[in-house]
Amino acid sequence: MTQPVFRFAPSPNGHLHLGHALSALLNFEMAREAGGKFLLRIEDIDSTRCKPEFEQAIYEDLAWLGITWSEPVRRQSGHLEDYCRALAQLEALGLIYPAFESRSEIAALVAARESPGHHWPRDPDGAPLYPGSARLLPASERAQRIASGQPYALRLDMVRAIEQARALFWSETGAPPEAPEAMPAAPEAWGDVVLARKETPTSYHLAVTVDDALQGITHVVRGQDLFAATRLHRLLQALLGLPSPHYGHHRLILDGEGRKLAKSTGAVSLRQLRQEGVDLADIRRRIGLA
Ligand code: GLU
Repeated sequence: MTQPVFRFAPSPNGHLHLGHALSALLNFEMAREAGGKFLLRIEDIDSTRCKPEFEQAIYEDLAWLGITWSEPVRRQSGHLEDYCRALAQLEALGLIYPAFESRSEIAALVAARESPGHHWPRDPDGAPLYPGSARLLPASERAQRIASGQPYALRLDMVRAIEQARALFWSETGAPPEAPEAMPAAPEAWGDVVLARKETPTSYHLAVTVDDALQGITHVVRGQDLFAATRLHRLLQALLGLPSPHYGHHRLILDGEGRKLAKSTGAVSLRQLRQEGVDLADIRRRIGLA
């Protein structure tokens, strides 16, 4: 049997909070119990929001939680060529196309399609499904726009991608034992999702799928908020010929108003709690791991 490999993959765009503590401790302890490996991956693709001081803080906070990880730590920003290779593979399959609309042009297209009683569909992250028709641009016009330096997003042709991949399933903790591989992927909710931009050669979805395969991750354990993302990751695995790990989507830690903890809504950080004198046993109690 292959050795189980777990991972924790934070983005250094803020300080870790109790939700991260739960995810990191679950993975670390599951790896230990399974006699497996625990890896740390720094998801620092978004160079405008990620900062070295947050990365340093991740190492300190995890050490404070009693977590150790196998070296080397993979930092996504150092592996852009891996994501370019995956994009080239999708391009060779005829599954991606450049779309040149700016965010405000997309917003205008969506507004034009919405009317009272008619809501343009959103993807699981709340972004409007792509309303444009760049998929139909002739190759010569694409080439000319790219050559003239126009910014663009590389989008997945979802209809063709699903045709190529056919029905997909993944293995999920909590699935019935008689059908452990039976979680249907249903990635169409994402529409023609962005996989890269001119200035950033990958999106979160592509990078995480490629990295989990390259790092030999056998178990992806992450928050329920990423359940819909797994639908898309399963599709990308199939298209890229990558293995599909086992998935578990754990409960989320909520704030006083019932919202999931988030850096963007000012969740209290682990370091703040530490400075206030909260100890590890207290942290474990607060996240239901006592
Ligand atoms: N980097 C993602 C985050 O911080 C997590 C990615 C994952 O676990 O797949 O939310």
